[in-house]
Amino acid sequence: MAELLYLKEAEQVVTVAGASDKPKVGEDLSEIGVIERGSVIVEGEKIAFAGTDADARHYLQKRSGKVKTIEATGKILTPGLVDPHTHLVFAGSREQELTMRLKGKSYMSILQAGGGILSTTKSTRAATADQLAHESRLRLDRFLKHGVTTVEAKSGYGLATDAELKQLRVAQQLNNEHPVDVVSTFMGAHAIPPEWKQDPDGFVQLVAEEMIPQVAAENLAEFCDVFCEEGVFTVAQSQYILEEGKKHGLKPKIHADELVSFGGAELAAKVGAVSADHLLKASPTGIEQMAEAGVIAVLLPGTAFFLMTEPANARAMIEAGVPVALSTDRNPGSSPTESLPFIMNLACLTMKMTPEEVLAASTINAAHAIGRAKDIGSIEAGKNADLVLFDAPNYQTLQYNYAVNRVDTVMKAGKIVVEGGVLLEKTDNQRCSLATEDRGTRPIWQK
Ligand SMILES: [Zn+2]
Repeated sequence: MAELLYLKEAEQVVTVAGASDKPKVGEDLSEIGVIERGSVIVEGEKIAFAGTDADARHYLQKRSGKVKTIEATGKILTPGLVDPHTHLVFAGSREQELTMRLKGKSYMSILQAGGGILSTTKSTRAATADQLAHESRLRLDRFLKHGVTTVEAKSGYGLATDAELKQLRVAQQLNNEHPVDVVSTFMGAHAIPPEWKQDPDGFVQLVAEEMIPQVAAENLAEFCDVFCEEGVFTVAQSQYILEEGKKHGLKPKIHADELVSFGGAELAAKVGAVSADHLLKASPTGIEQMAEAGVIAVLLPGTAFFLMTEPANARAMIEAGVPVALSTDRNPGSSPTESLPFIMNLACLTMKMTPEEVLAASTINAAHAIGRAKDIGSIEAGKNADLVLFDAPNYQTLQYNYAVNRVDTVMKAGKIVVEGGVLLEKTDNQRCSLATEDRGTRPIWQK
């Protein structure tokens, strides 16, 4: 019999329980199931009990075997945070673009000059799978230190069949070997690569007819995503790709209405997308249709912050009954951070979401956005023991003491992986000559 782990008497246990079937919407988004002086008991990889400490002691009396106690006094316990939108696997770095943007260049004009996504594509195509795995592992380590125990990861820096497959295979490898679970999305339609600039429809055909069948045949992704945006992929091209993805069992997601109001939210409702992400310029009609179709809005306030633009209208979406989730959008150009807790701060401070709403949006609703709500996203008996102990007296402090990492302990599937804010096992001891991002070398496209 497995040893029981007794997380004893936290100031608060934020369970976010009761929404494993459907994401939280409207006023229910604020119901996060706080248990004062709560305890959680873990057996093996699963949560066995969550409730008051008095009930926990009764529970333990009925059980035999060893019990290991972790004192949680003075701290709060939440579900492991879930990040439903990242571009985790890439090579190279783009910190020079910040200076360019500060001097007035737009994100789109940098992309059109061969920078942006296309610069990352060059470095990612040039990198070996080992180099990609190494760089991505460092990012997963940082996610873990910020309390994130599951991430979604998109391809989309290959933009050619082999390079897309390489990215997805690395994501799958990381899912197998790193404590953080990685849920894969195929996003071959992330940008039009230079060699297809004169024939964008030809590239769309390549994505739909060559890449999607191979991704599905190798079982490399669960979702298919498209950058539906003016100057990138049209609504018609996006719909075609997402419908082809569906035929191969890939569930649709959309990068929608980020820079202009483009009909992305409407398309998400039409194709039955699991989520529409960004949505800074989503139309009121699009928001209404998303609510009716149950499309989750994955909001990325860090991207708006980093690109110095207005964030999405979270309040309008919550009031319309759209389920809202939050994410870092971790990527090398428009949101280079693994701090989901800081994104939660931004959701409060820039989108006026309440501390309760951001917790539900970063746990159970985020789990719904990647099809994992049956197993993760809340503290309930039977779910995976993915848990975070924050060194804070109450959950409001996580948003009040902004931009400070208060993660103390992280448990992944019943195993402690972060203690006292420190990663217990180094996941990568490899020295890698192409670990550019942490060393600040010049991007390949500027050489
Ligand atoms: Zn994205």
